[in-house]
Amino acid sequence: MPRPSSPIWHPFTQHALQGEITRIARGEGAYLHAADGRHIMDAISSWWVVTHGHCHPHIVSAIQEQASKLNQIIFAGYTHEPAEELAAQLLQLTPPALEYVFFSDSGSTSVEVALKMALGYWNNIGKKRTRIVVMQHSYHGDTVGAMSVGARGVFNAAYEPLLFDVTPIPFPATGRERDTLSALYSVCQEEMPAALIVEPLILGAGGMLMYPAWVLREMKRICEDWGVLFIADEVMTGWGRTGTLFACEQVDVTPDIACYSKGLTGGSLPLAVTLCRADIFDAHYSKDRNLTFFHSSSYTANPLACAAARANLDLWQNSDARTRVSTVASMQEHAIQPFQTDPRFANVRRTGTITALDLKTDDPGYLAGIGPKLQAFFSDRNLLLRPLGNTIYVMPPYCVTAADLDQIYAAIREAADLFA
Ligand code: PLP
Repeated sequence: MPRPSSPIWHPFTQHALQGEITRIARGEGAYLHAADGRHIMDAISSWWVVTHGHCHPHIVSAIQEQASKLNQIIFAGYTHEPAEELAAQLLQLTPPALEYVFFSDSGSTSVEVALKMALGYWNNIGKKRTRIVVMQHSYHGDTVGAMSVGARGVFNAAYEPLLFDVTPIPFPATGRERDTLSALYSVCQEEMPAALIVEPLILGAGGMLMYPAWVLREMKRICEDWGVLFIADEVMTGWGRTGTLFACEQVDVTPDIACYSKGLTGGSLPLAVTLCRADIFDAHYSKDRNLTFFHSSSYTANPLACAAARANLDLWQNSDARTRVSTVASMQEHAIQPFQTDPRFANVRRTGTITALDLKTDDPGYLAGIGPKLQAFFSDRNLLLRPLGNTIYVMPPYCVTAADLDQIYAAIREAADLFA
């Protein structure tokens, strides 16, 4: 088997099956311009990070301006204006009970930080609560802690010996929502867990599985009753994807700890934050150095990334971004309607700006043979769509047009003609 010509080992890529890797030279709005001259529509926001469009001029110029002032500084014992301003702005936009901001570099690290904050909290206040409750089919990232709280399966089978035990509760599938809530109630009663971690409203990598907002509210209520910390992983759902800036807003749920990343910089640079309640900070605030929150990475709160995020927050506060989100949500609803009655699809669904539909096949699931075929089919039509097995989803940047969506859904229909 000939090896690839490049020495680069790509993420989530089986190189022995992967065809030519597309080289992208430039991004603008909803489009990627390939080195071979093709214009590719980015229908999944480049792994769910790009919100206002590629290379948004306001974000680009914020990065450029910051680059000539300060581009990196150790963040222990030092601070800088972009981080301070960003933290203050974030606290204005997020639920009021969240009062402290811890920076890191990716969604996975924001989850690691959240888990460590939760365990650190219980440890430092002298209570032995260490168990984490998770939702079936969840995905929280690929570092070892994040994998431990995510669904077990093909992604992490080889690393199983490294993963810690958690208690899963069932996904609140339609008609089974009460099972989730009673499972959560029982585990709270029996195990006195440290925390519950959930993706609010939509489980992304688990298959774009959507559940109603009232379930989120009820899960939070049960956690509150039992003193279990509620960790909202808004890494994917944040920044407008579910129709509101953050998913938890839809039911006025205030998490005890919240993770935001991906769209935090508008999709321009890697950055993440984990926000928490004051008492979680306070449990680490002491003259005793043993109670320090022991976590860092070299690039914590990188000034360029913070400047990009600050520019992104400007856009949310001072541009038509929120109107764009509503417009995209309505266009998506309109576009997906005809598929509701198409017998070749099941579970045609939408939450906010995200749609998903399952192409009926004999071998469903993430490793469904149809997945790579669909991906290649869309790629041939200059569409960046990356189905999760037989689940096709559309999560575009908010600058997408109705004509762009027409093209995407026409290709999905054509794919069904060919493969269903
Ligand atoms: N949490 C959720 C809900 C995600 O969807 C993802 C990534 O898709 C992550 C965490 C991990 O983020 P990252 O890939 O930036 O580490």
